[in-house]
Amino acid sequence: MKIIRTLYDMTEYRVQQRDRGASVGFVPTMGALHEGHMSLVKKAVEENMVTVVSVFVNPIQFNNKEDFAKYPRTEEEDFKLLASAGVDAVFAPTAEEIYPEENCDNKEYALGTVAEVMEGKYRPGHFQGVARVLDILFRLVDPHRAYFGEKDFQQIAVVRNLVKSEGLKVEIVACPIKRANDGLALSSRNSRLSEEQRKAAPEIYETLKYSVEYSKDHSVRATHDTVVEHLDAIPGMRVEYFQIVDARTLQPVEEWEMSDWIVGCITVYVGDVRLIDNITYRTPH
Ligand code: AMP
Repeated sequence: MKIIRTLYDMTEYRVQQRDRGASVGFVPTMGALHEGHMSLVKKAVEENMVTVVSVFVNPIQFNNKEDFAKYPRTEEEDFKLLASAGVDAVFAPTAEEIYPEENCDNKEYALGTVAEVMEGKYRPGHFQGVARVLDILFRLVDPHRAYFGEKDFQQIAVVRNLVKSEGLKVEIVACPIKRANDGLALSSRNSRLSEEQRKAAPEIYETLKYSVEYSKDHSVRATHDTVVEHLDAIPGMRVEYFQIVDARTLQPVEEWEMSDWIVGCITVYVGDVRLIDNITYRTPH
C-alpha cells in the first residue's frame, strides 16, 4: 500500500491510474478507523480496480476546538488495517498541505436547505468545512465512486448537493450503519467514553428501536417526545436534538402520512462526547 503525503504525489498517483484506465474508489475518513469505516473500504475494494482512502482530521469542519484537539488519532493502526483490507493508496496529508496560505479563500458552497437543519444549525460552519475538504479531495483523487456511511445521514444529502452544485463527476455510494454487538453505532468518538458511559450509550439505539414500535400507534410529536424524555432521564446523557424528518428534504414532518420515507436523526451528549445516530420509520423500498 502506497502512503501519500503531498498533493504533488497524490496527483502523480492519480495520473498513473488514469493512464492505465483504472476505476478508482475513494473513502474519505478522519482516521481512528473501526469496522464502520472498514465496511465502506470493503465495498470500495470490491467495486473498483483501485481504492484510495484519505485519513485527514479536517480542522475547518470542527466548530469546537476541544473536540478537534481530543479527536482520536491512531495513524499507525489505521495504516495496518487499510493495508490488510487491500487498499492501494492512503492519502494522509498535513493541514498545511491541504490548506496552504495561498489557498485560504473563503469559498461558500451552495449546499441547499438540507445543510441548514440539524447538524447545520447546531454546528455552524461544519458543512462548509466538510464541503471545502471534499471539493479539494474529489478534484485531487478524481474518483469514479466515493463511499459514505449512513451514520452521517445528513452528510450524504449535503455531499450529493455539493457534487451537483460544483459539477463534479463522482458517484456517491451510501453504506449502512455498522453497530457494535450491543447496538451502539460505531464511531471514532466511542473511544473517548468512560467504561460507565460506554455501558449506557447503547440505550440511544435501544430507544430509537423502541420508538419505531411506539410510532405505529402514536403521533410524530409523541414519538419525538418519548425518545427525548427517555434519554434525557439517563444520568450523564443529554439530547442535543432529535428530529423526525423527510429523508429526502431533511425537513421536519408533522404527520406520518406526510412522506413515504421518514427518518429520525439524533445527537446525544454522553458526558462531553457527542454521538449521532438515526433510525428509519418509513421507507419506500
Ligand atoms: P469519519 O472518519 O467519522 O469522518 O467517517 C468517515 C466515513 O465513515 C463517513 O462517511 C462516515 O459516515 C462513515 N462511518 C463512520 N462510522 C460509521 C458506521 N458506524 N457505519 C458506517 N459508516 C460509518
